[in-house]
Amino acid sequence: MRAHSAFDADDAPGARAGAADIPSLERVLACDAGRLLAAETGRDRLAGALRQVLADARTRALANELPMGELAPAALVDQARSRLQAQDRPRLRAVYNLTGTVLHTNLGRALLPDQAVQAVAQALSAPANLEFDLDTGRRGDRDDIVEGLLRELTGAEAATVVNNNAAAVLLMLNALANRREVVVSRGELVEIGGAFRIPDIMQRAGARLVEVGTTNRTHPADYENAIGPRTAMLMKVHCSNYAVTGFTRSVSVAQVAGIAHRHGLPAAMDLGSGTLVDLTRWGLPREDTVRETLQAGADIVTFSGDKLLGGPQAGLIVGRADLIRKIKKNPLKRALRVGKLTLAALEPVLALYRSPELLAERLTTLRLLTRPQARMRLQAERLQAVLQQAVGADYAVEAAPMFSQIGSGALPVDQLPSHGLVIRPVGAGRPGRALQTLESRLRRLPRPVIGRIAQDALWLDLRCLEEGDETAFVQQLQGRAA
Ligand SMILES: *Cc1c(COP(=O)(O)O)cnc(C)c1O
Repeated sequence: MRAHSAFDADDAPGARAGAADIPSLERVLACDAGRLLAAETGRDRLAGALRQVLADARTRALANELPMGELAPAALVDQARSRLQAQDRPRLRAVYNLTGTVLHTNLGRALLPDQAVQAVAQALSAPANLEFDLDTGRRGDRDDIVEGLLRELTGAEAATVVNNNAAAVLLMLNALANRREVVVSRGELVEIGGAFRIPDIMQRAGARLVEVGTTNRTHPADYENAIGPRTAMLMKVHCSNYAVTGFTRSVSVAQVAGIAHRHGLPAAMDLGSGTLVDLTRWGLPREDTVRETLQAGADIVTFSGDKLLGGPQAGLIVGRADLIRKIKKNPLKRALRVGKLTLAALEPVLALYRSPELLAERLTTLRLLTRPQARMRLQAERLQAVLQQAVGADYAVEAAPMFSQIGSGALPVDQLPSHGLVIRPVGAGRPGRALQTLESRLRRLPRPVIGRIAQDALWLDLRCLEEGDETAFVQQLQGRAA
C-alpha cells in the first residue's frame, strides 16, 4: 500500500496543493472507487471517514505539505479505506501462546475441543431447550443440562453452575454462611491473580472469616476450638498458586470434614482447578479429584470450568443435595448464572470424561499438557532456521529444552519438560532493549506471537503450537519478517 506522509512529500518535491484544491466530499464519494467502497461500508460510514481524511488534507495543505498527487479522489478513498480497515480489526484476536503456560489466564485459559466448538456454534444460531423440559413441555432448569454428567463424574448428589469459580465461592458462602462464621486456615487465605482474595470474597458474601492456625501450621484442634454458636461451616481452600513447604502442617479434607460433621456443620472445599480424573495416569503431578474430595467428606466442592477441566469459563458447585438446593434458591444465583454458550460448551467437554482412556487425545488441554518433549524438540529443529531468517542477524535463534507450566494456579511448583526456541540479541549493548523490541515486533504480527523474556533471552515454548498450526505459523514468519 502507498504511504501518505509528509515525509514522502519532502523526498519527492512536486507541486503542492492549496486548501482550495481539495475536492469536495460529494465529489470523492461520487468517484468510482468511492461508490464501490460505499457499497461495502455504507455511504454514511464512508462519508465520516472521508471527512477526517479531507480535514487532514486541509491541515497539510495549509502547512504547504500536501502534494497534488494525493488529492486524486481515488487516493483519498484509499486513505479512508485504510482508516476503516484499522477500525474494523477485532480487538479480540487469535494469538500464538508460546509462553509455556498452557492455561494462561491472560490468553483465555483452556482451548476447547471441536465437539464444544460445534455445540456453541449451534447454540448461537438455533433456538435450544435451555430452560425447557422436552419430556414434559414445561419450563426447565438450565442446570439440568449438565447436572446429570456432573453427578456421574464426581459422585455428587447435586450440582449447579455459575459464571466462574470466584462466583461459585461467593454464592456458596452467601447462601450457606450469610451473617455467620466460616473457619479457614491462615495457610489457605489465598489470593488468586486479578483481585480474588478469600478474605475479601468472604466479606462480600456477608460471611465472617475466622482465621485459625498460622501461615505454615494448622492443627485439627485449631478448627475444633474455633467452632462456636455462630459457625456456619469449615472451609478449606486449595493453595493454587503457591506452596507452603518446610516446617508445615495442614489438616486434610477428611479431618476437617470429620470435625465439621461432629458439630453438625458442613465442610466446604474450594478446589480451584478441580480435576475430574487422576492425572498421574498421564505422568502429570497428582491433584485430588473432585470425586476424592467428596469421598473424603466435603459437603460442597467448588471449582473452575476452564482450568484443568479444559472447558469454558464457569464455576461448578457440587455436593449435598440440600445444600445445592439452598444455593440455587439464593438470588445471587440468578445474577451469576451462565449463558447458553457456556452450557453448550460444557456439556460435550464433560461428556469426554466418560472415556478417560481417550481423554489425552480428545481434550485439548490434556493433549497439550501431555505432549511429549520429543515432539516439541523436532518442531524446534524444524522452525529454528525459519525464525532465524525472520528475526534477522541482530538475534541468534537456538533450539533448546525448557520447562512449561500448567498455569492458572494448578500445581504451581510442578514443571513439564518441553522444548522451544531461545532468541538472544547478538552484539554489544543492553540485551533488555533489543529483547523488548523483538517482543513487540512479534506482538504486532497479524496473529501475534507471545513468548516470555527471561535470562536475557526471549523464550518461545512450542508446547502449545500443535503440528496442525505449524504451517500457518511458518507462513506468517516468512510472509512478513517479525
Ligand atoms: C482459580 C481459583 C479461583 C477462581 O476461579 P475462577 O474460575 O478464575 O473465577 C478460586 N479459588 C481457587 C482456589 C482458585 O484456584
